[in-house]
Amino acid sequence: MRGLVHRVRGGVYTVVLESGELLKASLRGRLKLEQRPGDQVVIGDRVRVAGGDGTYTIEEIFPRETAITRSRFGGRSVKVLVANADRMLLVVATARPQTRRGLIDRLLVVAEAGGVVPIIVVNKMDLQGALAVAEELEGVYEPLGYEVVRVSALTGEGLGQFGEKVCQGIAVLAGSSGVGKSSLVNAFEPEHRLRTGELSRKRGTGRHTTVSASLIQLGCGGLVADTPGFSDVGLWGVRRSELDTCFPEFRPLLAGCRFRGCSHLHEPDCAVRNALDDGAINSDRYESYRVMLEESDP
Ligand code: GDP
Ligand code: ZN
Repeated sequence: MRGLVHRVRGGVYTVVLESGELLKASLRGRLKLEQRPGDQVVIGDRVRVAGGDGTYTIEEIFPRETAITRSRFGGRSVKVLVANADRMLLVVATARPQTRRGLIDRLLVVAEAGGVVPIIVVNKMDLQGALAVAEELEGVYEPLGYEVVRVSALTGEGLGQFGEKVCQGIAVLAGSSGVGKSSLVNAFEPEHRLRTGELSRKRGTGRHTTVSASLIQLGCGGLVADTPGFSDVGLWGVRRSELDTCFPEFRPLLAGCRFRGCSHLHEPDCAVRNALDDGAINSDRYESYRVMLEESDP
């Protein structure tokens, strides 16, 4: 039987079969030993399940098409948070909290590296000064090929467009806490009644905190990933050598650098730095690249 992992909690995997049937499974012993990048099984994984009479085991994990990762232990190991996501909705607020361009660039890189299509969702369009913030973000990111969607969970503006992004396949909501991720899901489908601030938050307290991750099934057919530990910065898992390819505006230039493996920091005849000097590359974007390169895994 083939299915999709909807929830992971303390070694128990909730799998939804192609028939729509939901069951709880454990992991086949030998799979626990297999070397895989990140955790053995994560939400969004496609698996083969065997068993019956209420006892099921995951026998096989199918290859992942995309992976959203973060590093742990200071970059020494990479943890996959969500497998097979189609889109990352990178939610920012026009104010409260203020948008941090560095965080947007970082999340864009995580999406690019994982093969997931990022979409920038500008929430709280009802607040004063929102238009200017949205226009600035559109001015920077639309020319790079990223879609920017204006919404307000409060007034309902843009929820139709939000729906187009979440009603098919798996979408991950990313962004700082307080930007309105839970509010957007609630405004779109009130029956979920997520407590605001509920998405991307650890459950429980203290040493024995149970961390669970799940896909929220929307009535419109889409799945939204709710992953603790994904809300804020410190998100990583991209290799140094692949960082420049995660900046779409750098890509057409890379073949023009004199040195292979050019870091685009100080080498002569660097096509990226030439484009920066000519004003063809946004200097804030270049600065994000520089900061991330310093932090990146070797
Ligand atoms: P999350 O941490 O990203 O899930 O953010 P929440 O959904 O918990 O929202 C954080 C706060 O922002 C709450 O007080 C919401 O009421 C408020 N909020 C969410 N969306 C909007 C919006 O579109 N406009 C305004 N003015 N406030 C919003
Ligand atoms: Zn270069």
